[in-house]
Amino acid sequence: MEFLPTKSILQKVSYGEEWFGIDYNMNLYKGCSHQCIYCDSRSNCYQIEDFDRVRGKEKEIEILHQELKSKRKKGVIGIGAMSDTYNPLEKQYEITRKALKLIADYHFGVSIETKSNLIVRDIDLFQKINMTSDVILKLTITTADDVLCKKIEPCVCVSSERWKAMKELSNAGLLVGTLLTPILPFLTDSEENIKNVIRLSAENGAKFVFSMGGVTLRENQRDYFFQKLEQLFPNLKEKYIRTFGNQYFCYSQNQNLRKVFEDECKKYGLLYKMKDIIQAYRKKEEGEQLSFL
Ligand code: SF4
Repeated sequence: MEFLPTKSILQKVSYGEEWFGIDYNMNLYKGCSHQCIYCDSRSNCYQIEDFDRVRGKEKEIEILHQELKSKRKKGVIGIGAMSDTYNPLEKQYEITRKALKLIADYHFGVSIETKSNLIVRDIDLFQKINMTSDVILKLTITTADDVLCKKIEPCVCVSSERWKAMKELSNAGLLVGTLLTPILPFLTDSEENIKNVIRLSAENGAKFVFSMGGVTLRENQRDYFFQKLEQLFPNLKEKYIRTFGNQYFCYSQNQNLRKVFEDECKKYGLLYKMKDIIQAYRKKEEGEQLSFL
């Protein structure tokens, strides 16, 4: 694997009640090899050349160590926004695992989203982090149909494997849920799919399902998506162009879908509002603040 020069790893963010309320963000790898056909991270604006090739960063664990040591404010670190941190090279290099060990040692929390079942390898470290800080784990699952999954997310384990991983994480006492995002109009936006994803999440230990409701398309990412649609789903590209033109956010045409989503989550007692999910997992910080007061 190639290692790129880097000056810093941790980035301070303040999302408030958005995106799981994380305090810091980091991407331990550059690029992602999972090749999801809709991936937003391949958009021009992020300037990641050769996106499908995973690269590490020079001395990233040493740099992260220094950064964690010097931070006065603890908090939750988000991992995996621009690149799935459990890519196939992680098995060999264990960069994420080394980072998690440091996060545990310095009593930070962690918020991870992934499509890979490799996440279960690090259950021991999540449990350790969970003893002093907050942990939230998200398996991104967009379809309950493994055949469709293999087409739209071709280079990572299929949805059924992700649910098995979810069950293991949940059985280990960790807070885990599903990121049902994106929802691809005409492909994964049937009421049946939404219901199945929610039911299977509940059956496999999810405490929440979060969904943004549609898919974003822009610049070269749209071109890549359309190229894949042409290869995999005849006539669908034309349908997207007819329906959405050059629109950035493309929502399902089913106006009832959000209601179906919310009703199903309520039926299984799953959280689905970002505010509630944040409240459910950031208990330790609140507890610490209360004991301090
Ligand atoms: S796993 Fe995430 S970052 Fe990787 S290709 Fe898929 S959507 Fe993009």
